[in-house]
Amino acid sequence: MKFDDLQLIEPLLRAVHAEGYDEPSPIQEQAIPHLLAGRDLLGCAQTGTGKTAAFALPILQRLMATKKTNPAHLRALVLAPTRELASQIGESFRVYGKFTNLVTVTIFGGVNQYPQIDQLRRGADILVATPGRLIDLMGQGYAKLNQLEVLVLDEADRMLDMGFIKPVKHIIAALPSRRQTMLFSATMPSEIESLAASILNDPIEVVVTPAATTVDAIAQTV
Ligand code: AMP
Repeated sequence: MKFDDLQLIEPLLRAVHAEGYDEPSPIQEQAIPHLLAGRDLLGCAQTGTGKTAAFALPILQRLMATKKTNPAHLRALVLAPTRELASQIGESFRVYGKFTNLVTVTIFGGVNQYPQIDQLRRGADILVATPGRLIDLMGQGYAKLNQLEVLVLDEADRMLDMGFIKPVKHIIAALPSRRQTMLFSATMPSEIESLAASILNDPIEVVVTPAATTVDAIAQTV
């Protein structure tokens, strides 16, 4: 399959071609058509599988198709466990959206909040955030999520390991219930399964493994 067969709009195709992508990766091929149709998704996939483009391209396409009514309101939110992952996802949205006028802002803790507040004040379509800083900025009234259309939880199992499940649930409780939701996790512990069951509506399920998996050591016991 070629990217050109995925029903993506021209500015997005131009961006993926500019990145040198020719064929969609398995997760992109399986997820993009359903996400473009508005379905929820449960993705069992690690970083390195191309999962960022699998959710970023349909989000960008959806936001291009609808007009923003109020520049202060965010339309898509991606939650990620670490600042490194959040930065990487934010950069991917900028790369895939470079021929659109959509604006992505990335926020995370451990740095001065004022430059991030400044960016939010100027208006953004997509927010990529770590949970703690987002809760801070929601509390201060700078992250307006009441018109949100799409939510992505990325690396949900790592969020669980890092103790973020409570803040994540707190954030989700403040979002409109009518939205498209995607949850990605490399593993599916029971807490993540029950979180997925509570926030996803009739999701399609995609399971992929990275093309090249290197295993350094396996501890086996009998
Ligand atoms: P991700 O799993 O989203 O972190 O992506 C892993 C890497 O694969 C990134 O460096 C992407 O730029 C690259 N990538 C994603 N999709 C494709 C594709 N269809 N063809 C070639 N490279 C890709």
